[in-house]
Amino acid sequence: MKLPTDGFTFPGISTRVVFGSGTLSRTADEVERLGGKKAMVLSTPNQSDDAQSLASRLGGLSAGTFCEAAMHTPVEVTEKALDVFNRSGADCVVAIGGGSTIGLGKAIATRTGVNQIAIPTTYAGSEMTDILGETREGRKTTRRDASIRPETVIYDVDLTLTLAADMTVTSSLNAIAHAVEALYAPDANPVTSLMAVEAMKAFKSGLPVLRDAPRDTEARALVLYGAWLCSTALGYVAMSLHHKLAHTIGGSFNTPHAETHAILVPHTTNFNAAGTDALAPMREIFGSTPGGGLWDFAKAAGAPLRLSDLGLSEADLDKAAEIAVQNSYENPRPFTQGDIRALLQAAWEGQRPED
Ligand code: NAD
Repeated sequence: MKLPTDGFTFPGISTRVVFGSGTLSRTADEVERLGGKKAMVLSTPNQSDDAQSLASRLGGLSAGTFCEAAMHTPVEVTEKALDVFNRSGADCVVAIGGGSTIGLGKAIATRTGVNQIAIPTTYAGSEMTDILGETREGRKTTRRDASIRPETVIYDVDLTLTLAADMTVTSSLNAIAHAVEALYAPDANPVTSLMAVEAMKAFKSGLPVLRDAPRDTEARALVLYGAWLCSTALGYVAMSLHHKLAHTIGGSFNTPHAETHAILVPHTTNFNAAGTDALAPMREIFGSTPGGGLWDFAKAAGAPLRLSDLGLSEADLDKAAEIAVQNSYENPRPFTQGDIRALLQAAWEGQRPED
């Protein structure tokens, strides 16, 4: 937890946010506010109905749809989308969906300089960040640049009502992972720390309600608010061990993004809690040690707990530990390859992390 006495730099928050129920109806106003005349609407194949219906709502402001967004932003898909975009006469993009669709919007915007509106429908948290991970021939590279960050984000609670129960849980833990790393980030500031703590409280209150009542709009609003806070914190600070491990495993073994984060985060939290007091607020929120309390919360929510369930073998853990120590990056606790291997073993077996 970053305190004012430590001194800090606050970069400001440059994205306009529209949050509420029914806010999708404000998309046309937001396009016009950005000076847009023709917006291309993006989605995955799964959410093409949502994209078509938004394009119809936009009427004369629509330049059509492109509904082939895919996980990890493959460059081939971006090139195809750019071709459609350039031929359509569009001057801005509207991405409606999870991190995959928002990634495609970012990839188009950073290449063309056009404005983008992100309308997130999961809690993954790409919408508020200047981060873009792209895949070329199976290799993922991630970069940060101001041109990547969406100008406007519309959070419509109604769009999250259809998020499946398992995705609701894993995507929430994916978001919480951003908050955990924001708390001990080397460039944290008191505002990102406040956001991280507030976000954890929102998930702690809202997620258990959604287990039994997935369409409870109050709980959905609270959880989406938490996701906004996590995404904002992620967008203004550096990430450490947890994200490095999640990306190593996801990139090397093609494991699903949200599940990988969900399984790892109690273990990375537990490991780093021994190297910093920045995670102390988690004791009160989750009611135990930071890692143990988060594991209890994840288990009660019905989250997956074992890396072995994602198809990883113990030999894969050796390889992941080796890759994870190849490049240096800041982390509150120093680690060896052996430390990472032990952490992965506990996550593979689904053990509750102990101090
Ligand atoms: P996703 O976008 O791949 O969505 C998973 C599936 O769920 C898709 O088929 C999607 O259409 C569907 N879906 C999404 N919302 C739905 C809803 N409300 N109702 C019904 N179906 C819905 O998954 P994700 O976890 O949101 O995003 C993962 C991707 O985002 C990864 O590629 C990850 O690297 C990236 N990401 C990037 C950042 C960043 O800052 N650059 C941050 C977080 C995640």
